[in-house]
Amino acid sequence: MSDNPKYSMVVPIFNEAENVDRLLEEVIPAMEGLDGPFEVIAVDDGSTDSTYEKLKILRQKEPRLKIIRFRGNFGQTAAFSAGFAQALGETIITIDADLQNDPADIPALVAKMNEGYDIVSGWRYDRQDKFISRKLPSMIANKIISWTTKVHLHDYGCSLKVFHRDVVKNIDLYGEMHRFIPAVASWMGVKVAEVKVNHRPRTAGVSKYGIDRTIRVILDLITVKFLLSYSTSPIQIFGLLGLLSGSAGFFLALWLSFQKMVLGTPLSNRPALLLAVLLILVGVQLISIGLLAEMMSRTYHESQGKPIYVIKDILE
Ligand code: UDP
Ligand code: MG
Repeated sequence: MSDNPKYSMVVPIFNEAENVDRLLEEVIPAMEGLDGPFEVIAVDDGSTDSTYEKLKILRQKEPRLKIIRFRGNFGQTAAFSAGFAQALGETIITIDADLQNDPADIPALVAKMNEGYDIVSGWRYDRQDKFISRKLPSMIANKIISWTTKVHLHDYGCSLKVFHRDVVKNIDLYGEMHRFIPAVASWMGVKVAEVKVNHRPRTAGVSKYGIDRTIRVILDLITVKFLLSYSTSPIQIFGLLGLLSGSAGFFLALWLSFQKMVLGTPLSNRPALLLAVLLILVGVQLISIGLLAEMMSRTYHESQGKPIYVIKDILE
């Protein structure tokens, strides 16, 4: 193993003891079909079954398999993040460990990548999951994500994706955010393509998620949208809302003052007065939050030396 791998596969694994043998059986030939050396990084996300022991046995026969073992269950996004940090390859491939994704699709995704894309995302056009609890919420979520992030994909939740190394090394992931990598990465101007992939029903082990994931995804979407649009200028959104609210309150208060002082109408039984006060206060608060967020954004970028841009090439 003198060569540095050209391809790094990252697989998050949580309690998939029944699947890891078959996973390797399918993944290794698919990776061998690529045009360069590869590594497979299995991230054991705190499994409590025999997943880790099984992986260790597999590694004895397959030195290209690397294992990262978490101390506890930190979640799929954290597992991806740990795998990305270790990945040596130029091209990073992600896949689920439960074999719902078909490793045989990998060469087609990589071929698409070589046409000049930075991200190629799998699209499970014939998804084999329950309709009410999985497919319907994800159909709705996909539409909302596509509309808000302006990165148009049919299927954000598909784990089978291929990334250029620069993409995963330039983004930070939190919460349930792995599905938003294409959207998060869009700030640095990536070219994204989508390829239809095979999807199979889970045959062993159990799904780790239920319908509650939809809510977490929507909340993370709000974060992603905010960070994408306003992270370097939060006053633009908070200030705008604050100005709208504050000026509405101001004009309402002006009108009420005119009624009281010029027309002599008593204000004691006027709920509009309460509304005016509320609008003004909310306006002041929103603008203050915007200013605080501006300072925090500067602290965030400057203290960590984070640039607000990503350079592709410099020609001198
Ligand atoms: N997974 C993980 N940590 C978790 C939950 C899931 O690493 O806390 C892994 C899991 O082992 C699988 C992948 O993430 O490889 C997707 O999980 P699952 O198949 O349960 O999700 P679904 O396909 O039902 O959306
Ligand atoms: Mg699955």
